[in-house]
Amino acid sequence: MKMNFFPDFTSEWSEFIDINADITSRLYRESTVSNLVGFILAILLAVALLQINKQSTSIYVWLGVMTLTYLARTKLTASYKKKVSPDLSWLYRFRFSVFITSLVWSSVCFLLFRSHDIVNQAIISFTLTGLCTGAAMSYPIDLVVLFGFLFPVILSLLIRLLIEGTPTSIAMSLMLLLYLIFVVASGRRTHKALHEKIDLAATSLLSEEREKANYIIMEMLAKKTPLSQILEMIVRNLEKQNKEILCSILLLDREGKHLQHGAAPSLPDFYNNAINGLAIGDGVGSCGTTSYSGKRVIVEDIQTHPYWSEFKELAAKANLAACWSEPIKDSNGKILGSFAIYHRKPICPSEKDIQTIVPNANLAGIAIELAHLNQELKLAAMLYQNSNESVMVTDANNLIVAVNPAFTEATGYCAEEAIGRDPKMLRSGRHDELFYQELWQQINALGNWQGEFWNSRKNGEIYAEWVRINTIFNNDGSVLNRVSHAVDITKKKEFEDTIWKQANFDALTGLPNRHMFHDRLLQEIKKTHRADLPLALMFIDLDNFKEVNDALGHYMGDLLLKEAGRRLVSCVRDSDTVAHINAVARIGGDEFTIVLGELKDTDCIELIAQRVLNQLSDPFYLNEEIAYVSASVGITLYPTDSTNAETLIKNADLAMYAAKKQGRNQFCFFNESMQLTAQNRMRLTKDLREALEKQQFHLVYQPIVDLATRKISKAEALIRWQHPTIGLIGPVEFISIAEDTGIILEIGNWVFQEVVGQVTQWRESLDPDFQISINKSPAEFLNLNANKENKYQNWAMYMQKLNLPGQSIAIEITEGLLLDSNSSIHSQLKEFGEAGIQISLDDFGTGYSSLSYLKKFDIDYIKIDQSFVQNLETQSDDMALCEAIIVMAHKLNMKVVAEGIETQLQLDLLQGAGCDFGQGYFFSKPISVEELENLVGQHNTTLHAKSS
Ligand code: C2E
Ligand code: CA
Ligand code: CA
Repeated sequence: MKMNFFPDFTSEWSEFIDINADITSRLYRESTVSNLVGFILAILLAVALLQINKQSTSIYVWLGVMTLTYLARTKLTASYKKKVSPDLSWLYRFRFSVFITSLVWSSVCFLLFRSHDIVNQAIISFTLTGLCTGAAMSYPIDLVVLFGFLFPVILSLLIRLLIEGTPTSIAMSLMLLLYLIFVVASGRRTHKALHEKIDLAATSLLSEEREKANYIIMEMLAKKTPLSQILEMIVRNLEKQNKEILCSILLLDREGKHLQHGAAPSLPDFYNNAINGLAIGDGVGSCGTTSYSGKRVIVEDIQTHPYWSEFKELAAKANLAACWSEPIKDSNGKILGSFAIYHRKPICPSEKDIQTIVPNANLAGIAIELAHLNQELKLAAMLYQNSNESVMVTDANNLIVAVNPAFTEATGYCAEEAIGRDPKMLRSGRHDELFYQELWQQINALGNWQGEFWNSRKNGEIYAEWVRINTIFNNDGSVLNRVSHAVDITKKKEFEDTIWKQANFDALTGLPNRHMFHDRLLQEIKKTHRADLPLALMFIDLDNFKEVNDALGHYMGDLLLKEAGRRLVSCVRDSDTVAHINAVARIGGDEFTIVLGELKDTDCIELIAQRVLNQLSDPFYLNEEIAYVSASVGITLYPTDSTNAETLIKNADLAMYAAKKQGRNQFCFFNESMQLTAQNRMRLTKDLREALEKQQFHLVYQPIVDLATRKISKAEALIRWQHPTIGLIGPVEFISIAEDTGIILEIGNWVFQEVVGQVTQWRESLDPDFQISINKSPAEFLNLNANKENKYQNWAMYMQKLNLPGQSIAIEITEGLLLDSNSSIHSQLKEFGEAGIQISLDDFGTGYSSLSYLKKFDIDYIKIDQSFVQNLETQSDDMALCEAIIVMAHKLNMKVVAEGIETQLQLDLLQGAGCDFGQGYFFSKPISVEELENLVGQHNTTLHAKSS
């Protein structure tokens, strides 16, 4: 790679710059003619001498030697011509051959010179001076050759003439001396002229070649040849131009802290490796310093220079003695590296040397900068082409000039279709003119804009993009291009939308959910506050929804909730005071809210509440079935009741409970006492947790009288709580709390245990058939699984263990329990039945009152609710109801207990209707064990007395 990269011309022109090679070639070129001329002269001389001296054998010998000499020289010339790249030795060979020829010629003076023979002497002198004149014309290019030929010949002749010693010969020798001086002088002058010419030719050739080299480098730059190759070319060119130097290019890394190998083909690898990665700094060699300071550094002698103290051994090993470094800079003057010239000997650079380094360093700078630029361009192009972002470039007239593949993918327009058009072609119509006006305002003012775009694809599809627009300006500040990068965010938006909907809306009704309701409430409070108006918050809870859900199934329940939601929305929508689409929310199973903000007229609150009640008490047609529910509505007002959203929510909830308590299907405004009740409830909740442990509960018993015999053979156990500070608390106040908190299970078990003990005792002391009924809350049936370790779970088994017959206990349940589809309730009831424990249906007539289930369960007693008994009059509705219940119960083989009998009339009426048992203040209030024992004792005794 390193070597074979170089084109052949380098070896070609390296010969030309070598003057010796040129001289040699000229000498050999001209030697053919001079050989011929010399040889002919030798023959002519021999012929001329033989004319005057016939018997001389030495002439033949001499001519033989001469012939051999010239043959040898011809042979040398021929073999030179055959050599492809002759070296310096051929010059020496030539010089040697000329010198030998000269010696052979000078031998004439001693072999053929005849004393006192003037003709002989004249012929020899004439021939030799002629020969020397020819040599002076042939060899001035090389003074060694010229003088090597002239001096032996002329000097031997001179000596011979002087030895002759005649006035003529001395005169001739003087003339010869003059001739020698003349020939030497003219030879030198010609030599000088010739060399100047050669030099000139060489220099022009050199600069021509330099240009050629530069051109090649430029071509390499244009062809984006790898930087390393270009740098190596620069270095090699310079080294070819000056054989004494070794060059190296080092590059500064991106951080600008370390030098990296660029090109140094002539320096040994160990040296290059040692320098590679060198940290630059002041005084770190020549290159480290130059790259650090940006100034030329000239070190004439590495071994003595302080900059090189650390590296002098290395340099010595690489046989480097001097180093001049020139910084390589880019067009902005940023340092890119260093260009170094090394010498084998300590040397100071000449002006010419400096002039050589600088342009080469500049050239290297251009190459490096271009390489960086190319790399960046390549990167940019790659980014642009492969980007996921769709890129669109427009010109100053806002016409598209370039788009990338991602653009085509996003919009459906290929480059040919898009280029030259206005980006308006992408408009979807979802943004109004104002949007575009504002966009352009910002682009014109700041040059950039970013935001969301709804655009339209070629096929008409609308999609969302996140777009960034930037401007490229001309030097004069005018717009050259605008570049827009866009990412498709349609999916993301859809996803966000779904997530937002899921997070904020109820899937069933499509109404805002609890989360959204909170946000809306806060917003409405703010708005209402600003408008200085009141706000109303309504909590709506469906009455009996659970029953419908249990009886008809969840699917029907869902249908009902959907319809309820629709009706609620209609209640609000039709109102002219509030019209917010999200005023209604569903915040839980059957709980809804309505926020009425910025109320100019508070009368509308009651109006809307009434409308809600009316709407929800209308029958719900669910497929084939009809269901009836009603609603309890709690209302609280901002800012009267509270200015805090959380408190408002609590208030509305309390008001809603109050509405429920007041008999459902009504609305109730929040008031302070509700809050007190709530607080009270909280306190009780806390105290209830330890009431059992602290034995604060006790039971009272209310006798149940057999209306036919008037005998007291049953009693209902009713719990009481003796609170240490509040005093006696009735079950109405705490049973619901116990149910909510789960404590009911423990209470229930405690009651059961007490009752079991009591009934055992009374069966012995009062009546062997005595029965006590226990109230069992629905929660006790449901929480069964949650409390497995409960050891009294199986009451029947417990009684069996005590040998207590099942009939001694009756369990009072409410109608709602029977409606529950939970199979565990059924099995529990069945278990009681199987153990002989009797079941009493409490508060009959107040609940859902579906008669069908009465058949399904093994019910022993029906307890007519005291609300019917209390208003009992002849021929009243309640009377009819009681009669009907009694008839029906008897038909189904059940006995009837009437609760809450307070007057003789009530007793008479019930007795007349055939009621089996009676319970109420008329007979006795709930009383203590002792009181009951006394009562039963007295009562039964009087009965006994009466009957007997
Ligand atoms: P309940 O089962 O309907 O009990 C009858 C309630 O009516 C008792 O109220 C009783 O004192 C009251 N009462 C009886 N005769 C008359 C009358 O002639 N006139 C009027 N005005 N009231 C009469 P109490 O004791 O306050 O119990 C209220 C409710 O608490 C009970 O209603 C029952 O559902 C529940 N309860 C009582 N004890 C327990 C218990 O140990 N466990 C459970 N789970 N609930 C209990
Ligand atoms: Ca009861
Ligand atoms: Ca009751």
